[in-house]
Amino acid sequence: MSSLLVDDIGELVTNSAGEGAGEPLGIRRDVALLVEDGRVTWIGPARDAPAADRRIDAQGAAVLPGFVDSHAHLVFAGDRAAEFAARMAGEPYTGGGIRTTVGATRAASDDELRATVRRLRAEAMRQGTTAIEIKSGYGLTVADEARSLRIAAEFTDDTTFLGAHVVPAEYADRPDDYVGMVCGPMLAAAAPYARWIDVFCERGAFDVDHARAILACGQAVGLGVRVHANQLGPGPGVRLGVELGAASVDHCTHLTDADVDALAGSPTVATLLPGAEFSTRSPYPDARRLLDAGVTVALATDCNPGSSYTSSMPFCIALAVREMRMTPAEAVWAATAGGAAALRRDDVGRLRPGARADLMILDAPSHLHLAYRPGVPLIRQVLHNGVPQCRP
Ligand SMILES: [Zn+2]
Repeated sequence: MSSLLVDDIGELVTNSAGEGAGEPLGIRRDVALLVEDGRVTWIGPARDAPAADRRIDAQGAAVLPGFVDSHAHLVFAGDRAAEFAARMAGEPYTGGGIRTTVGATRAASDDELRATVRRLRAEAMRQGTTAIEIKSGYGLTVADEARSLRIAAEFTDDTTFLGAHVVPAEYADRPDDYVGMVCGPMLAAAAPYARWIDVFCERGAFDVDHARAILACGQAVGLGVRVHANQLGPGPGVRLGVELGAASVDHCTHLTDADVDALAGSPTVATLLPGAEFSTRSPYPDARRLLDAGVTVALATDCNPGSSYTSSMPFCIALAVREMRMTPAEAVWAATAGGAAALRRDDVGRLRPGARADLMILDAPSHLHLAYRPGVPLIRQVLHNGVPQCRP
């Protein structure tokens, strides 16, 4: 058994309720943390630190749990930089560009898709993301959805079948047939590689009846539910997710009081994706309203080539604080423990004995700097499963 001591931690964010100060972050000061076989096994005053095979000196910096990015679309080909430029020049976002990426993805080889996921996964890791969810959704044929998930599963346990991203062009005049295929042969081919099922429940994508049918089919074969909901306008997606016991409803940009009430009385997490509002120049979700109602909030990147091409959780934290009136502590919690809640995982997003040793050492004395110093590469070192990750 090899051991590694992270010593001289000035500020440790544990996210463990009742530990230390700074709720909800459970901040402890002047501590050390011991890692054995990929797990945290001890946290305590630096002066009491046990001997270890190796030592990392944090030099008084802040140490946080690794980010848990619970919403990412990494299996795709091509880019949509020109669409982004046109949007910044005034064209509205409708979601129609998804079909552009579908065409490029179908034409790509497995190795091309795998290389893109590997590149983006590494990019996210350098920015502190130690756990990530990856969706399919740019194949939209039985074979292309199955291979997207097979490739995604090489990089994460949290794979999500999103065959119901949009109705592909070849089914445009017969969406019922497409839903039947998603629930039938596509789900059968995808399910062995998927933990979750997701639907884009939105005007122009899937209506509530189609969304309910697809999610129910996924649940019937043991997949957990997530929903893209209420991004572009008000709608039934959030309440459908709560009704079905979804782990998370994602976007939540346009909510009614009934939506907020439903979330507040449920275990469903509201995952906010401010990179999408930034990149589509849209109004941000009202995080303050959700938090004040007692809803569990997560932050994630929505990394995708159309509406949010960022893998940076620190960027999302900065947006959440500046534009959505979350406190820095709420935003950091939402990007770590909140993401873990959205994936129903208790092994990541917190630092306590027994947790996976996923953490980051900042080039800063406090978690506050993640929002205070936007756009600055503040992640000095990342440990994933207790293993230090190389900087490029
Ligand atoms: Zn998404």
